[in-house]
Amino acid sequence: MLTNHHTHCNFCDGKVPAAAMADAAMDLGFKVLGFSSHAPLPFATDWTMNRADLPAYVETIRAIGRKHAPGMEVLLGLEIDYIAGLCGPADGRFDAFGLDYSIGSVHHVAPASLGDDPLSTVDGPQEGYDALIARGYGGDGLALAEDYYAALATCVKVGGFDILGHFDLIRKNNFRGSRFRLDVPRYRDAVMGAVDALEGSGIIVEINTGGMARGKTDSPYPEIWILRELRARDVAVCVNSDAHSPAHLLACQEAGLESAMAAGYRELVAITRAGRISIPIA
Ligand SMILES: [Zn+2]
Ligand SMILES: [Zn+2]
Repeated sequence: MLTNHHTHCNFCDGKVPAAAMADAAMDLGFKVLGFSSHAPLPFATDWTMNRADLPAYVETIRAIGRKHAPGMEVLLGLEIDYIAGLCGPADGRFDAFGLDYSIGSVHHVAPASLGDDPLSTVDGPQEGYDALIARGYGGDGLALAEDYYAALATCVKVGGFDILGHFDLIRKNNFRGSRFRLDVPRYRDAVMGAVDALEGSGIIVEINTGGMARGKTDSPYPEIWILRELRARDVAVCVNSDAHSPAHLLACQEAGLESAMAAGYRELVAITRAGRISIPIA
């Protein structure tokens, strides 16, 4: 049973209208498609929705849902940023829109040493990431990772969302450990802070194939050893493509399923309008 709860369209930085994404998903045989446009932030960006567009977004997704019912269920969601000290999914800023679910994600870190400089994303262009490590962390990439995972752990503890987005997004611009090593205790300890926060939280962790589909990583987020730790703590997982275009809706889906199974998972958990359902995978 094909599902995807991480879908962008041209209300944010997706490449095509929501209707085109839904038509493509329907053709591919998806049973559940969740739209998760980047929610507006308290400051302007070129990749998040405008606050003024929210009512049109809701109306558009609901109309698409009526069109594709009952063959494919279309869900209204948002990918909501957690930024330490500024905003997060628990704020309730989007409660009025009757979302079916939300994804909680960390894209930004805000190192104190950067002072008044703009907040930086960890998944933008490589030069920005490298500059962030150089100027925000004195060249210590692991210090950036520690900040990122501390924010992720707090995001989980504060809650207010259903699915945790791209767990180790910090890997995106660190291809094969080119900026800092992933096989060292400092990195592992940072990761485990977020893993431990997830135990008993009820939050679903997505296995996100978006970075892999774009050639930025060799494997889906999160890495397999992290998935094993999550499995040991009974944290539920789903597979999402983080698609920004129809061509990516199914990209690396197999790799996502394989990593779930390799970590010991025998089911995925998917959100539907009727609640959570279990999808056996073995
Ligand atoms: Zn994201
Ligand atoms: Zn996304």
